[in-house]
Amino acid sequence: MNLTPALLPEIIDAIDNVIEKNADQVTELDQAIGDGDHVTNLQRGIAALKDQAGELAGLEWPAAWQKIGMTMMSTVGGASGSLYGTFFIAMSKASAGQPMSLATFAEAFSQGVESVKKRGRADAGEKTMLDVLIPVADCLHKAAAEGASLPEVLQTLPGVAIAGMESTRDMIATKGRASFLGERTKGHIDAGAKTMQLMICAVVGVLQGQSAAPA
Ligand code: ADP
Ligand code: MG
Repeated sequence: MNLTPALLPEIIDAIDNVIEKNADQVTELDQAIGDGDHVTNLQRGIAALKDQAGELAGLEWPAAWQKIGMTMMSTVGGASGSLYGTFFIAMSKASAGQPMSLATFAEAFSQGVESVKKRGRADAGEKTMLDVLIPVADCLHKAAAEGASLPEVLQTLPGVAIAGMESTRDMIATKGRASFLGERTKGHIDAGAKTMQLMICAVVGVLQGQSAAPA
């Protein structure tokens, strides 16, 4: 299977579709403990990426991630915009000059997660997108260390992302807008964790379609 940025148009479309399909639900989540703009913020970024999809498809991964990061940073807005931007720009830096493999992808993804932690001064358990990103990064590292095949990793990732998203329900928000509500955030899933889970599952779906297709 050839995992090149030529896949990006299909991946961006899949993300666009899943976010559109779940937009009302995510807005309800963000209205409960945030200001309700999360989906609109994210969709602004996705629309900009769709416009650039053809160009992104012709780049190498580090350049593609850099461009995605810059676009997210300048279009999404909100707390999430700079975090998405930071994530992809760190991935770009970490993957520069590296051949694409599960191990190098796991490392680049982890560097992306580390940069989100630093930028947002947040960690696991604070009811944010990090509660999906951190377990997914751990899962990628573990799979690479165990020499798992790509289809095996792809089969495991959605469950990990969904469990991470679900885990935010019982957490008390200590970062971002939701932290103003403290205890009252308990019982609500974090909107940014939900969209992160949806996006990761959409990427996995596209890659699974690829691995099912004849080489
Ligand atoms: P805003 O909160 O500025 O309106 P959005 O609604 O676009 O921005 O995004 C909110 C999401 O961003 C939250 O649901 C949460 O997942 C994520 N988030 C907020 N602050 C942080 C942080 N410090 N670290 C990680 N993620 C954060
Ligand atoms: Mg918001």
